[in-house]
Amino acid sequence: MDPIKYIEISLCRVPLRHAVSDAKVLTGRQKPLSHVDMLTAEIETVNGEKGFGFSYSLRAGANAMLAHAKDIAGELIGEDPDDIGRLWEKMAWLGASVARTGVAVQTIAAFDVALWDLKAKRAGKSIGKLLGAFRNDVPCYNTSGGYLNASLDEVIKNVERSLGRGLGGIKLKVGQPDLKKDIERVRTVRQHVGEGIPMMVDANQQWDYTTALRAGRQLDDFGLVWLEEPLSAYDYEGHAKLSERLVTPIATGEMLSSVAECSELVKQRSVTFMQADVPRVGGITPFLKISTLSDLARLKLAPHFVMEIHIHLGCAYPHEAWVEHIEWLEPAFNERLVIKDGRMLLPDRPGLGFSLSEQAQGWREGIQRI
Ligand SMILES: [Mg+2]
Repeated sequence: MDPIKYIEISLCRVPLRHAVSDAKVLTGRQKPLSHVDMLTAEIETVNGEKGFGFSYSLRAGANAMLAHAKDIAGELIGEDPDDIGRLWEKMAWLGASVARTGVAVQTIAAFDVALWDLKAKRAGKSIGKLLGAFRNDVPCYNTSGGYLNASLDEVIKNVERSLGRGLGGIKLKVGQPDLKKDIERVRTVRQHVGEGIPMMVDANQQWDYTTALRAGRQLDDFGLVWLEEPLSAYDYEGHAKLSERLVTPIATGEMLSSVAECSELVKQRSVTFMQADVPRVGGITPFLKISTLSDLARLKLAPHFVMEIHIHLGCAYPHEAWVEHIEWLEPAFNERLVIKDGRMLLPDRPGLGFSLSEQAQGWREGIQRI
């Protein structure tokens, strides 16, 4: 055994080039998003082998994650980093009184990803190959060009840039207070790109059931791959009813932060596309349980954000899997994902395949070596 000797944690604040707004901003619930806070974890063994992982928060919550990480990191020292399942449970039980969901498990995700990175590096394989890949690339779509802060002209330019870069699909944000504006935006982009380009829309939970049904019936005309987060993230039953009544497949799950919550989407047949997010559900270990539940129900997979992690899980999923291309974290890493003919390629570098850039080192704060 080569036990864990040191753990280094930090926050890394990654600025966005332009602040972005989805429907939550237009309905007055949030301010535009200007940066992503990453919680980073580096695990080093007695023999000097290293694993790197990260989790993230948007707007608030990062300091709570760093504080919780400090609370639990010491308990990993001296442990065998190969025992990822047992260590996940150990970390979860340490924080069990403040929940097995939310901030507590999102903190664990940084350690869990670092443990998988280390294990895959030792095997000399990417995490996707270590997990058992079904394919070496997955279709990917752009989200960052379709935010509501962009005018329709800007969106069209962004769409052309994305398709020119080889991305395989386009997602537009909807959920504005005026539904007519949403429909007009989707119609214009659909006419511009033609029928052959996969398109998705995302309402970011801003509709009630009646509005979602009314919107969904109009959106059914556009041949969309999915309609994302039409309702509150916890309205499992409402999503199931929409799934029955609309032709367009329903996608949700990005806001859920446990296996238990995601399993409700499966049990209640709420979705066609499961959108769980590795950092939000507590890491790769719990995500694999969600993958298994989703596989049994023959769901499709479309994990939310952090393409740097989700490329591995998308390639290791038995059925259709889309990866969301959001380039926000690119400046934080030395490496880039390769996109070709509408698909994102599984990196052949060992482990996660990403390391913090020089620039990101300068964005780090709260560095603690435990
Ligand atoms: Mg979304």
